[in-house]
Amino acid sequence: MINKEQHFEKMREDMVNSQLAPYGINDPKVLKAMGTVPRHLFVEEALMDQAYGDFPLPIGEQQTISQPRIVAEMTQALKIDKNSRVLEIGTGSGYQAAILSRIAYKVYTIERINSLYVNARKLFDKLKYHNIVTKYTDGTIGWNEESPFDAIIVTAGAPKIPDELINQLKDGGKMVIPVGDKRTQNLLLLEKNGSSVNERNLGACRFVNLIGKDGW
Ligand code: SAH
Repeated sequence: MINKEQHFEKMREDMVNSQLAPYGINDPKVLKAMGTVPRHLFVEEALMDQAYGDFPLPIGEQQTISQPRIVAEMTQALKIDKNSRVLEIGTGSGYQAAILSRIAYKVYTIERINSLYVNARKLFDKLKYHNIVTKYTDGTIGWNEESPFDAIIVTAGAPKIPDELINQLKDGGKMVIPVGDKRTQNLLLLEKNGSSVNERNLGACRFVNLIGKDGW
């Protein structure tokens, strides 16, 4: 007989081997984080058995936890390491922040819905992910006191790139952000070089809306 934790560990291993490794996720740090963080704890109990499937899931408040592959892809694109300080806009379930925290030095994550913010904070404490700092506010204006960041990740779809987030990115830093209309977006990878910003389109995606001063 295998216990519950072993059951989820096996599902996690299968997720890495079947959904990530064959689809361009090859950074060992990312694969290790995805194979370590207990994704099932980031969804409600009734959905735990679906937590390692190749799809997003509802997390309440009409928000979603992203599909594992997109979490891995966004994380890998940022090219972070153990010295990186990373800002995330859209804590949601906390899963993306948890993945980042296993690779980076420190993660700063902002959520605008109080219940999600509270739940994620509790879970980070329970898992002893002590290098995650949380904030309950509109994240489109970033986190100026802690800037500049090595990397910024926006996990909600934006109508345009918020200027303030570019300002808070370090020179040479990278940012991933879905930009488009309310239904579909393109996942953009930006790199700041002095006063210019290079942009690469990583492909079409679909996120919930970024709501706020510099959002919808
Ligand atoms: N990264 C999350 C994905 C959550 S979905 C995860 O791993 O589960 C996107 C989240 O962005 C939602 O929780 C939504 O409330 C939040 N959000 C939307 N606009 C925001 C804003 N301006 N500031 C902070 N959070 C925002």
